Amino acid sequence: MVDEKNTQESREFAESIINTVREPLICLDQDLRVVAASRSFYQFFKVKPEETVGQLIYDLGNKQWDIPKLRELLETILPEKATFDDYEVEHDFTSIGRRTMLLNARQVVRGLGKERIILLAIEDTTERKRQGDLLIESEERFRRLFETANDGILLLDKREMKIRHANPAITAMLGYSNDECIGQEMKDIGILRDIGTCEEVIQMLNKVGVINYKDVSVQAKAGQVVDTDIYMVDRASLIQCNIRDISDSKQTEKKLRKSEDYLRTLVHTIPDLIWSKNKDGIYLSCNSIFERFFGAKEKDIIGKTDHFYVDQILADSFVENDRRAIAAMKPTRNEEWVTFADDGHRVLLETIKTPMYNDKGKLIGILGIGRDITARKQIEESLRTSQAKMQSILENIETGVVLVSPKMEILELNHKMHEWFPGIDVEQRPLCYQVFNNPPHEVGCESCPTWQTLRDGLIHESIRETHQTKGVRSYRIVSSPIFNESGEIVAVVEMVEDITERLSLESQLIQAQKMESIGRLAGGVAHDFNNMLSVILGYGQMIVGMTQPESPLHEYAQQIIAAGVRSTNVTRQLLAFARKQVILPKVLDLNETAEDMLKMLHRLIGEDINLVWLPASVWPVDIDPSQLDQILANLCVNARDAIDGVGKINIETGMKTFDEAYCSQHPGFIPGDFTLLSISDDGCGMDKDVQSKIFEPFFTTKELGKGTGLGLATVYGIVKQNNGFVNVYSEQGKGTTFRIYLPRHSDQENKSEKHKATTTIPRGQGEIVLVVEDEELLLKLTTKILHDFGYVVVTANSPKEAVNLFKGHAETIDLLLTDVIMPEMNGRDLANVLLNIDPNLKCLFMSGYASTVINDLGVLAEGMQFIQKPFSTNDLAAKVHEVMKSEQGKSAHMIN
Ligand code: ADP
Ligand code: MG
Repeated sequence: MVDEKNTQESREFAESIINTVREPLICLDQDLRVVAASRSFYQFFKVKPEETVGQLIYDLGNKQWDIPKLRELLETILPEKATFDDYEVEHDFTSIGRRTMLLNARQVVRGLGKERIILLAIEDTTERKRQGDLLIESEERFRRLFETANDGILLLDKREMKIRHANPAITAMLGYSNDECIGQEMKDIGILRDIGTCEEVIQMLNKVGVINYKDVSVQAKAGQVVDTDIYMVDRASLIQCNIRDISDSKQTEKKLRKSEDYLRTLVHTIPDLIWSKNKDGIYLSCNSIFERFFGAKEKDIIGKTDHFYVDQILADSFVENDRRAIAAMKPTRNEEWVTFADDGHRVLLETIKTPMYNDKGKLIGILGIGRDITARKQIEESLRTSQAKMQSILENIETGVVLVSPKMEILELNHKMHEWFPGIDVEQRPLCYQVFNNPPHEVGCESCPTWQTLRDGLIHESIRETHQTKGVRSYRIVSSPIFNESGEIVAVVEMVEDITERLSLESQLIQAQKMESIGRLAGGVAHDFNNMLSVILGYGQMIVGMTQPESPLHEYAQQIIAAGVRSTNVTRQLLAFARKQVILPKVLDLNETAEDMLKMLHRLIGEDINLVWLPASVWPVDIDPSQLDQILANLCVNARDAIDGVGKINIETGMKTFDEAYCSQHPGFIPGDFTLLSISDDGCGMDKDVQSKIFEPFFTTKELGKGTGLGLATVYGIVKQNNGFVNVYSEQGKGTTFRIYLPRHSDQENKSEKHKATTTIPRGQGEIVLVVEDEELLLKLTTKILHDFGYVVVTANSPKEAVNLFKGHAETIDLLLTDVIMPEMNGRDLANVLLNIDPNLKCLFMSGYASTVINDLGVLAEGMQFIQKPFSTNDLAAKVHEVMKSEQGKSAHMIN
């Protein structure tokens, strides 16, 4: 009973204690059956008392409490220790989930029975455990961050601001080891030396949470300065100080700023206008040149459109150009005349508009670059006009112009060159030595002036011949170099002149001049020679007259005379060439005269040669017929000589008229109406060289004795004397044609005038004249004139000498020509003396006094022949002839 009572008591006691405890508490007997449990136990574990009390603890809640760790505590630990605290057990309960519990166990022995009671207080630490785990985790995380951070991190205690922790980044940044940092203040390792007191920092942190020090210089252990940003954060018991090395980013920033500045300077320095607009045409930026043109500052331009600065139409055109560039998706070029709003100045801008895309390829706007090309345009314009002028000059001049490259390709030809060398395609860049030569040359010609200019850079000139379809043409080429700025030859200009005609004109002129001087020479020689012949013949005749025919002297003298006469033929031809022949022209019909000659010509050329006579109507000509005979004979003989064996000679006549224009193109031709006499043969012909000399006297290609070289010279002289001209056409191996053009005779012409001077004075026939003249020079002159006219002259420079001379030759002297006033004896007395010897002597007196004066002096008688000094050659010749023909000698006795 007592036990009962005691048990009851002790249970109630236990329950009362148990229920005072807030924590779940359970009381077990020594068999580990539940004696009692607190209210909180039931609440916590969601069990009912009737299912609990008396139950084995392991069987509670459907054996949920059979926990190995619990068994260990109850069965192993407690029997030994009797008390054990903070025994941690974790278990999954179906009713309340996973729980962590701290068990505090007490083994109590009651009374004598040594009854054991176990008290088990259960503290649910699930929540606390979870928090603790989290903390560990975050601390771990923080530690890792701390260890691996790029920023240097210091943890400072709040009381003294001494360093408690320093991370490796600090060491890397400042060179202080961890040990050198711990326990130090920040200023000891070169950081924030004037940070202020601990309280100040804490206060500040309380106020703002984070203190941020920007761009702070920190000194490292080795002395170098590190640029940093520093953050200080309140971390409960500590202050965290982050130190970030910004040297690199500062450097980068500096570089960036520098490159930005540089770019900006670049954009502003560029002498072109540069601007950008967004895709709505609103200005985003522009450079200073743009500012200057628009008369506004960039800040004012940005945000505006073109419409703000230029008139509506222009602005619209800008927008249109922008649109085109955007549509084209590439840079587009425009030329825009812009009139600016500020002062209305107008410039021509060349603009290039380029669409701008961002890195995702999205259109963000348009970039414009503009250049003032007004001046350039003006220069281009004037260049164009001057080029056009140049071009029209080049196309209109009569000179050929060629532009040749250093490789001798033809770059340009003007119209003259195209005309002279048709069919050259300049586009093909043909080589000049190929197209200008026929046949084409393989390499540049050594003698080409362009070739030389390309080698030495100087101006060269030469004359070149080319064989062209129109014949051989001669071109004068002047080549001048064109240099570039560095002094290299970039091209050569050839100025080309066709001088074919001029050359032939020149050679004609030279030919004519040559003929003229040869003519003078030949004339002079023939004259003198003729005079000598007169003397030879004169004295020869004297000898014949003075000797008997049987005498050998008589015979010799006759041989002399015969040789003299033959020589006279040569001199006669020479005189004909020199146009000094005495002629008797008359108006005649060429056809008639030629026809009269035909028989003789046939005989001259022989039977193998066919002489064809082809007369046509002709104009009358005024010519000495014997000269015409001479022409025909000489030309036919030449033609005969040119024909080897059988051949043909054509003699044709006709009428030809040449005008000035024709003659300017045909050297040697004279304008007017001409009667043509043409003699052509199919003989051997002549080359150019021979042709140039044939009219020279004594030029012959024939063997010695065959040709005299005087035939054509004579023809030439005759034709010239008659104001005509000769034209020769000859091809080697084919034949020759001589065309003689004689001027048409018109009746109105004063015929006598033309020939009077040289031709109407009959010549002497070798009559002998005794000239008496005390004036030596006059004596010589008179002698010469009379010689020239075919007289034989005997001279005396005093009357006495004349008388002596006459005494020996009275028979042969035909005429006395004497001065009137002379020392010893006057002319009349002399005449009388001589007339006494030969009464047939003809007398002619000459004097400086007029005949009337002399008459008055009583020197000259009426009817005496007289010529007044000074006299002309012709006067004297005419007077002498007149006296010779008169019967004067018979009346000589009248002189008294
Ligand atoms: P020559 O007959 O005495 O040689 P010319 O004065 O008559 O002298 O002629 C000069 C030269 O002109 C000749 O030697 C000859 O070479 C050339 N010649 C003249 N006529 C002809 C012709 N019809 N055909 C070819 N050659 C000619
Ligand atoms: Mg001849």
